[in-house]
Amino acid sequence: MWEAEPGAFAGGTATEVEERVWAIDLGFQGWDQVIYAYLLAAPDELALIETGPASTLPALRAGVAAAGFDFGQLSKIFVSHIHLDHSGGAGAIVRELPEAEVYVHPAGAPHLADPSRLVSSAARLYGERMDALWGEVVPIPEERVRPLNDGETVEAAGRVLSALFTPGHASHQVAYWEPERGAVFTGDVGGVRMPGSAYALPPAPPPELAPDDWAVSTERLRQTGARRLYLTHGGAFDDVGEHLDRLMPNLAEVEAICRGAMLAGEDDEAAAARIQAHTEGRIGAARADDPGIVQRYGWASPSVLSALGFRRLLARRGEIPRADR
Ligand SMILES: [Zn+2]
Repeated sequence: MWEAEPGAFAGGTATEVEERVWAIDLGFQGWDQVIYAYLLAAPDELALIETGPASTLPALRAGVAAAGFDFGQLSKIFVSHIHLDHSGGAGAIVRELPEAEVYVHPAGAPHLADPSRLVSSAARLYGERMDALWGEVVPIPEERVRPLNDGETVEAAGRVLSALFTPGHASHQVAYWEPERGAVFTGDVGGVRMPGSAYALPPAPPPELAPDDWAVSTERLRQTGARRLYLTHGGAFDDVGEHLDRLMPNLAEVEAICRGAMLAGEDDEAAAARIQAHTEGRIGAARADDPGIVQRYGWASPSVLSALGFRRLLARRGEIPRADR
């Protein structure tokens, strides 16, 4: 039930993507570009946007060192949402750096303090691969968790970040907008896109997938007037308008595939295979130049998770029969 294969990339590289911002490649499952954490640096402070999972903490640490900084200086951590590929490592970091604080949507905050429900629902999805994928999920003391309001601004490493509530992928997803430089750190609301392809793939896992909300959030990103999107899955892209234009039509295509498959009585694996074939088609010519690109998209947004996400959504809407499990 899992399409993607591990690669051989160790991660831990740091690329200065603009002045005093580094994209740290976490080398998730041995692949480059699949999960990034963004390091913001000022002489007296380091901040991080996204931590990646606990399983890639050695790469995160190596990346901070490669950028020329001391991991122990890290004091502010911003996470887009609480899915383990984005914030699973935050607890282990705070255990090591007890002064560090973690900024998150208020609905996500309780799950950082007590990740037991998050971990058990992930374990249902990932089974015995749980530990290899995500590592140890460490609770964060409540007083270290800083819930954000929509529109709230926070100073970090000499910058001002504004929290934009952007539901759709998850109800508690936050994007971080930096007006001064015209950049948005999108988390998953900006989709998955690997360099070399124009395909902006919205990852659609259960349980909170909400395409209508996502469309509003996409519009919200557009209205910032951003010149650059920093995707957690894939890196920096400057064709902001075109990228955002493609996102919702691409989600609608996957929805239509799932609706067709599920109305025809196909199971999740069959629907996932259809999504996978569609994804490979949409990646297009980049596949010939770079066979690994299919694996990268697959690790960032497993087709089976989108099948499960749409199964739940379509059943809730009454469009397909409810699964009896
Ligand atoms: Zn993600």
